[in-house]
Amino acid sequence: MKYKFNPPGILKFMFSDFYWTTNNDKLLLTFDDGPIPDNTYQILNFLKSNNIKALFFCVGNNIRKYPEIAKSILDEGHTIGNHMYNHTNIRTVAKSETQKEIDQFNKITLKELNYKTEFFRPPHGRFNLATSGLMKQNKLKNVMWSLLSYDYKNDKNIVKFALENFLMKNSILVFHDNISSQPIIIDCLEFLVKEAEKKGFEFGDPAECLK
Ligand SMILES: [Zn+2]
Repeated sequence: MKYKFNPPGILKFMFSDFYWTTNNDKLLLTFDDGPIPDNTYQILNFLKSNNIKALFFCVGNNIRKYPEIAKSILDEGHTIGNHMYNHTNIRTVAKSETQKEIDQFNKITLKELNYKTEFFRPPHGRFNLATSGLMKQNKLKNVMWSLLSYDYKNDKNIVKFALENFLMKNSILVFHDNISSQPIIIDCLEFLVKEAEKKGFEFGDPAECLK
């Protein structure tokens, strides 16, 4: 399995406006796909008791379904990013369709949360040549990652292996706020905090990590 996401230099050069790691040598914790009942709250409680601020790449349709949970994310001082309205793989649709989903996402966050996000993560990590331009037009920063935890495989040992071997001080970590990782997510986060402490790495706030 590929835990470390370290694309070829040419790709990073071509997409140098994307974030692949943090800029301040701190760990950035990100959660994709929420919000969902119960799970988001247990993550929020964990973050609060560990004094960590995270970036939640929410699916617009989940914000529509669970606006109160999305509100709690913001109330607790975390950041919400755009993960498309329907979690669509943008490689499989026309640019106009991607734009439509970005707009739909903006509309629902404005309506339900009075909030405008500045961050974007493409579902499944898939993007194409049009993505950079689209980000600029929408004044969005595209946030990729450097360490995938594979938490959605629902196997703690895989996540532990990833963290023990591939955690770097400037890692952008991906976890999931979804049903697949729900049974193990808190154990994994506890392990992450211990591992970071052991290695002397600190967690940073999204805004300072992605300057
Ligand atoms: Zn996703």
